[in-house]
Amino acid sequence: TFKAIRIDKADKGTTAALTQFDDTELMDGDVTVRVEWSTLNYKDGLALTGKAPVVRRFPMIAGIDFAGTIEQSSHPDWKAGDKVVCNGWGMGETHLGAYAERARVKGDWLVRLPDGISARDAMAVGTAGYTAMLSVLALEKHGLTPKSGPVVVTGAAGGVGSVAIAVLSKLGYHVIASTGRATEADYLKSLGAAEVIDRAELSGPAKALAKERWAGGVDSVGSTTLANLLSMTRYGGAIAACGLAAGMDLPSSVAPFILRGVCLLGIDSVMCPIELRRVAWRRLASDLDKAKLADITHEIAIGDVIGYGPKILDGQVRGRIVVKIV
Ligand code: NAP
Repeated sequence: TFKAIRIDKADKGTTAALTQFDDTELMDGDVTVRVEWSTLNYKDGLALTGKAPVVRRFPMIAGIDFAGTIEQSSHPDWKAGDKVVCNGWGMGETHLGAYAERARVKGDWLVRLPDGISARDAMAVGTAGYTAMLSVLALEKHGLTPKSGPVVVTGAAGGVGSVAIAVLSKLGYHVIASTGRATEADYLKSLGAAEVIDRAELSGPAKALAKERWAGGVDSVGSTTLANLLSMTRYGGAIAACGLAAGMDLPSSVAPFILRGVCLLGIDSVMCPIELRRVAWRRLASDLDKAKLADITHEIAIGDVIGYGPKILDGQVRGRIVVKIV
């Protein structure tokens, strides 16, 4: 048996408990991994609390990403002892997840840990940080450079936001950080934000077009915030949309698209193709400052995870949380 956070269906909603799981209950896969580190993302908060129907199989082991060492493999690319990272692919949703001492997954899902990134670092980055990098890659593919103009990052003090700020500032962008936590202004500046604005400026109903303020952005908030971002984007700019911390809706208009040629870039981390994941992890190794990563990271034990579920949904978590599994 091994230790795991198990989600079960209850009469009303779901329950979460740290318990023992039997090896025979592991699902199909050609690689078995000794999980060393995991992390807490917004989606993990939804799964742990049952606030949204993230979990679609019971019993489930929660946790959408892990880093660890391969114990056994029948996959041609992998052998025992290899250090790997795995994000998404339905882990913690349809496939048994990461808050466990052991995981069995498809070898095709795994990315080798890049040189210079430890298993702990990889989970300090986690799905949130890797999604921030996917957003940066999408903006670059669009043609954005630091010369294009300022970039805005919403949900700035959260996981995606903190990593996006650190990476974009290292790349030379003038970063405008939008936060609801004025007390985090110094933290955001230490990550590299050039300006910190109050998220209330962006949360009201959006005009079709407003004064042009940025050439690009990374949005983890959605709803009216994303609508405002679009209406304030410069001619030809782009916003990478990766989150829904304020809601799934998008009360916008086509005006930014057809009058300013603005682009809305969709970011998905879960089913993202493996080649793009490898690029993202390589870029995280080179373009995310290790000292900044350490600054945004807070470590907890697997026994603390369930208690942190409601906190991340309440927006009380700053930066990134790593979970020590063994
Ligand atoms: P997080 O650490 O909780 O960060 C979210 C941040 O959003 C909060 O820290 C807060 O920042 C802000 N926020 C929270 N509630 C808000 C509200 N009602 N209105 C405006 N701002 C609000 O979560 P995360 O792990 O970084 O994830 C962020 C979002 O990205 C989530 O919606 C998550 O589901 C999504 N996501 C998507 C993908 C994907 O594949 N597309 C991958 C990872 C994450 P401030 O306090 O600074 O305002």
